[in-house]
Amino acid sequence: MPKEQGTRTHSSLSAADAPLEVVLVNREPESRSRLAMESAGAHLGWDPDTIAELVSPQEVRLLRLPCRILGKVIVFWGVVALHNNARGPFKGGIRLAADVSLWETVELSRLMTLKTAVVNIEFGGGKTGIRVDMPGMYRKFGRTPIDLDFEKIISLDAVELYAQIMRETFASHYYVPAPDMGTGPDEMAAIINATQDPASVTGKPEGIIGWQPGRRESTGYGVSFVATRYVQEVLDLRPNRCTAAIQGFGNAGGYAARFLAEQGVRIVAITDLYGGVYHQKGLDVEALIAYATEQGTVRGYPGADTLTNEQLFGLDVDILVPAAAGNAITDTLAHTVRAKVVVEGANMPTTPPAMRILADKNIAVIPDIVANAGGVVASMEEYARSLSAAKTPSEQVFGTIRELLGDAMDATLERSHDMKVSLYEAAVSLAMERVYDAMKRRRMI
Ligand code: NAD
Repeated sequence: MPKEQGTRTHSSLSAADAPLEVVLVNREPESRSRLAMESAGAHLGWDPDTIAELVSPQEVRLLRLPCRILGKVIVFWGVVALHNNARGPFKGGIRLAADVSLWETVELSRLMTLKTAVVNIEFGGGKTGIRVDMPGMYRKFGRTPIDLDFEKIISLDAVELYAQIMRETFASHYYVPAPDMGTGPDEMAAIINATQDPASVTGKPEGIIGWQPGRRESTGYGVSFVATRYVQEVLDLRPNRCTAAIQGFGNAGGYAARFLAEQGVRIVAITDLYGGVYHQKGLDVEALIAYATEQGTVRGYPGADTLTNEQLFGLDVDILVPAAAGNAITDTLAHTVRAKVVVEGANMPTTPPAMRILADKNIAVIPDIVANAGGVVASMEEYARSLSAAKTPSEQVFGTIRELLGDAMDATLERSHDMKVSLYEAAVSLAMERVYDAMKRRRMI
């Protein structure tokens, strides 16, 4: 059938109509990291073309993953975004979630570039997103939630196929993956099975060749470190007089809760995907971990009031830690926030309009690229020591996290003060300078 004049379909686009960068660069919707990089770059006096080169990903792959799961073939789609490797191998976690998208994965990979640069470690930025709709899987297989064994079969089968496809990329250390939301040490073991190389992945399970003591706790440890340091040094409060509310009780949120409680912070509320719990006198974090490990959620924990995720953000606490999904603190919720400081355990949990509202309310936001960088710092130790049976003790890893995150905090606070910009923009601008310098030296720009 002849096409209507002037109507464009995919097949009618000529190469000249669709330069490659139009797809990957110009089509990206407005994003928090891009806005911050453009603004920070302008503050540094950089021209827009240079800023654009730092914003752009180096490489993006889309994957169709036909997984054989419990006798059925289930097709998942995945994105591998390799943002920048000027300062070291592409580094970043593997996320399994229902709402994974191309642009979210690209942005998360960009955050890894900024994060590794601001804490000054020799990695670049990458990320993987695999779109796994767990509620849909329960329906497809006629299972009843919450069945953690069933969820493990799904995630392991998905990551096993992904690891086979990506084997060469990992084995050459071009991209060194790690856990993120929906994956953990078990899935990292699937990667080492594919590559047979202990240095090809970090976040490996305890006892498996190349594992690193302290890696599992490291993200939460770093979150608790920056939170307590900020309340002590900037707000002049003692941690044992502070309260905290945490969204997310997985790897990042669970260990953040544990380490904050160890410092005497009263954890009054915790929520997860299924709901939450509140106790004004403070929750028993260890008992809650035991309960959530058994039940798959904190919801229903006895002896505490129930709480929604929305209510958590409006609590009258000192420290608010979003440590679950992105875009959790919207502009509407930002109006309700009463905390003295927001510590971003999750990646980009505060939307740009919410950031502006919090700034107007004089509530500091310790940005994700500093607050949750403890994990990648521990990963650096794991990567470097993967071929040795002599392990760096966890205490030493925690010491490195304190040193590197502490330096990043100090530099960020100083620049924020000097340039009169938000902590986020200050951290982004520090990172951009380091990435640019490496790109320049390697003739990548
Ligand atoms: P995880 O899968 O171990 O735990 C996620 C937790 O968040 C679970 O308790 C889950 O129920 C909850 N959750 C998920 N979606 C939610 C929603 N929409 N509303 C409320 N709760 C929700 O994941 P994780 O590794 O702890 O990652 C959490 C965040 O921390 C992510 O943004 C991730 O990118 C970031 N992060 C993780 C690491 C790491 O080392 N694991 C490092 C840096 C940043």
